[in-house]
Amino acid sequence: MDNTNTAKYGVVGNPISHSKSPSIHQTFALQTKQDISYKPFLVAVGDFEQAVTDFIASGVSGVNVTVPFKEDAWNLATKLSTRALLAGAVNTLSFKDGEIFGDNTDGIGLVRDLKNNHGFDFAGKKVLLLGAGGAVRGVLGPIIQENPASLTIANRTLSKAEQLKQIFVSDFAISSCKYCDLDSSYDLIINGTSASLNNELPPIPEVVVGSSTVLYDMMYSQQTTTFNHWGQNLNAGSTIDGLGMLVEQAAEAFYIWRGVRPVTDDVFTKLRNH
Ligand code: NDP
Repeated sequence: MDNTNTAKYGVVGNPISHSKSPSIHQTFALQTKQDISYKPFLVAVGDFEQAVTDFIASGVSGVNVTVPFKEDAWNLATKLSTRALLAGAVNTLSFKDGEIFGDNTDGIGLVRDLKNNHGFDFAGKKVLLLGAGGAVRGVLGPIIQENPASLTIANRTLSKAEQLKQIFVSDFAISSCKYCDLDSSYDLIINGTSASLNNELPPIPEVVVGSSTVLYDMMYSQQTTTFNHWGQNLNAGSTIDGLGMLVEQAAEAFYIWRGVRPVTDDVFTKLRNH
């Protein structure tokens, strides 16, 4: 039950009813004994700015932002973290002292999932990213900080991969190509395309998968995703889906808001089993 001391948070998107974020944050709050409420907010496309004005007026302390409002949130923020600035998108807003502070926790969520939950060390590894949309842009900065040996972005539309490369090229010598140009195996392949949402596979040559390659699909589902199924048929080293990324990005948002870092294992197991 909310009382006047209960800090209000939520997640904004359209659609939003499918979101696992309320369940994740409520579990974090119970675990860390934080007095918060966290609700889903359905906002019509075009109404994001008004919705944020209303949140602030009604005492909401912060919101997570999901499809299709991450760029609107980036534009609306009066202050941006460095990682949000580079990501070009915001998934976590905090309302404090008259400022709208925007951050992006997706990239650190992916890196923490791979490092902490799956023991993957990026240092010295050959990394391939598939796709050049918002999700890939969001993870590039945090991956670069882990010092991989190389970073390749492959995308159906080559110009989009090249645009991403230009944003980060001063920090890291990223290469970009089309799928048909890929001709060697990688240590880690991250599927950041939305192809899995339609049970489709980007047209990647099988040569990219070796016996120790880790495949990471940013999409998650109860069944093995199309991309991970493809990797298993090729005897890839291991396949992981994006559920852990979802939980870890939420944990980072919770930390930004509450200054307490929740333990993520139990939440992950609960979601995986339901
Ligand atoms: P965008 O719409 O911004 O980008 C989509 C990308 O997918 C583009 O590069 C597009 O290529 C490519 N693509 C789409 N369909 C195909 C296809 N059939 N074959 C090859 N390439 C294709 O989406 P986002 O970047 O926002 O999201 C991408 C994925 O990441 C989604 O599945 C989303 O659910 C997931 N995600 C997961 C998160 C998590 O916490 N687990 C967090 C954020 C995202 P082109 O440029 O040529 O059109």
